[in-house]
Amino acid sequence: MSWLLIEHADELVTAKGKAARRGSEMNALLVIQDGAVLTKDDRIAAAGPTGAVAAQLDALVREGETVTRIDAAGKTVIPGFVDPHTHFIFGGYREEEFNRRLAGATYMEIMKMGGGIASTNRATKEASEEELYAAGFHRMERMLDLGITTVEGKTGYGEDTKTEDKMLRVMERLNRDHPVDIAMTYMGAHSVPPRYKGRSGDYVDYLIAEGLPMARGRAAFCDVFTEEGVFSLEESEKLLLAARAEGFKLKMHADEIVPLGGAGLAAKLGATSADHLLKASDDDLLAMRGAGVVATLLPCTAFSLREPYARGRFMIDSGLAVALGTDFNPGSCYTQSVPLMIALATIYMNMTIDEALTAVTLNAAAAIGRADSIGSLESGKQADIVILDCPGYKHLSYHFAMNLVETVIKAGVIVRGN
Ligand SMILES: [Zn+2]
Repeated sequence: MSWLLIEHADELVTAKGKAARRGSEMNALLVIQDGAVLTKDDRIAAAGPTGAVAAQLDALVREGETVTRIDAAGKTVIPGFVDPHTHFIFGGYREEEFNRRLAGATYMEIMKMGGGIASTNRATKEASEEELYAAGFHRMERMLDLGITTVEGKTGYGEDTKTEDKMLRVMERLNRDHPVDIAMTYMGAHSVPPRYKGRSGDYVDYLIAEGLPMARGRAAFCDVFTEEGVFSLEESEKLLLAARAEGFKLKMHADEIVPLGGAGLAAKLGATSADHLLKASDDDLLAMRGAGVVATLLPCTAFSLREPYARGRFMIDSGLAVALGTDFNPGSCYTQSVPLMIALATIYMNMTIDEALTAVTLNAAAAIGRADSIGSLESGKQADIVILDCPGYKHLSYHFAMNLVETVIKAGVIVRGN
């Protein structure tokens, strides 16, 4: 039996529950002064005021069992961050493209110089499994530095089943070897490969015939890039229906560039989340609310592309459950920065810090179907805990874009700090 007691935190702060918090519920964090968390092995045994938790400790711990103690005076204790939308397995980098885009290069000019997703697809295909594994491991180390204890990771840079299988294998190995947990998503429908140019429908048939059986039972989710010139609403529905029949839960890249109606389809199909949503219509967003689809917003992408932000304020005021993700990927958003994301959400999207913290913990967990086991500091949940080097959670927005993470506990084990 392994016990860990974090005590005397200036603030212990958490959203509460085993499901996404919607609308005004997102602004109702539990804040406990002089707070404590007690963990037993990989689970939280108790959380609350230090006095109350200490009293339970005396009843729980048997003679001969040792308790590791962390004095969190002057610190803030929160749940580990969950990043519910990334493409963190990829080959190659696109720094040339990024800087040319900042200098004014158009999408077509970038394509002509061999940039865009096609270059990542090539590099990912050429990379060995070991190279992708090493790069992925390194990126997961950064995640832990930033307090991310669970991440969603997508395939989608393989233009064929063999490369997609390689991406999935890399994530399966990383999930076993690295403390950060990975929720895996199959996203064969990320771009249309050159050999299917002008025949995206045939490519969807190929994914249904080969890709879904390959990923079945391995990836929890199937995702699709529903966008003008990529996958139509009809093609997306066909793929997602086939995926649902195979046991996948559903995600969508919806209404990022053009208002195609992806958010409405996500509602119709009962997707777990619809992501991006920059151009989603009011009606489709309200349909998502009705269907309980989490709205996963990705402000770092809008920042990187100099696009307007998604309407987080409107969505929360309309009663939706909003989550925040980094969208970490080598093209449109090469960052893992939770601090930047919180700054953008609070300063530019008019979310309160309470809403933003809920969005990167419990609601992010709900966006990957894990709100019953992670995302909050409550008895019975996995002991994924972050200690911040600041005396209150409001410093997360106030001391903006800084990494305040000092100590990270993953499944009851101290993996960063001491
Ligand atoms: Zn994405």
